[in-house]
Amino acid sequence: MTYNRIRIRDDDVLVTSSSFRGKEFDRFRGFHNMVTEDPKHFIHVLAVLATEIQEFPECIAYIKEETAKGTMQPEVHGLHHIDYAGLPYAVVVSQLREAKDFIVSSFNYVPTIWYSPWGAGADARGEHLRPAALEAGLNLVTCVGMIQPSKLVHEIRALADTPEDKANLIMAWEGKEILRHWWEGSGALMESIQFFKANDP
Ligand SMILES: [Zn+2]
Repeated sequence: MTYNRIRIRDDDVLVTSSSFRGKEFDRFRGFHNMVTEDPKHFIHVLAVLATEIQEFPECIAYIKEETAKGTMQPEVHGLHHIDYAGLPYAVVVSQLREAKDFIVSSFNYVPTIWYSPWGAGADARGEHLRPAALEAGLNLVTCVGMIQPSKLVHEIRALADTPEDKANLIMAWEGKEILRHWWEGSGALMESIQFFKANDP
């Protein structure tokens, strides 16, 4: 039976970063290599910034290749990294359509999710964002219920050392989504990925 992979949601793909200036693509690629150490249990889900990423043509080519291999899933973060709750409905729809079209034409993949910047749309101020997303053919996912990598690694470390408990944990995490930006520390995630790889090869 195929495992419904754990989704590693990676926001802000790709932007210039003061910590990794000039090496943003290398850092992003390193993060992807970590996720694909265990392609059976993990998939790298990207929240793409359709304008900012155009400063990284080599990254665009790379995402297209990896998406074709099934190790990446590029979804929409926005046309820009802005507060969409402050924009009128029609402008949101038009920007989402443009971002979606960019992903279709650049990566040969049809996105279905809008991961809004800063989780906009979770409160009354952004209540027009969910219908706007639907009109653009996207489902809005905010930051509500977001899981951090520390939660998984804590569960792993607390496990009894029995094959049954390990198997139960692996099954319990099937299909869940964990948020981690490509520039953030990845020690907890790395440890978790190695656990899955070692215990369900
Ligand atoms: Zn963001």
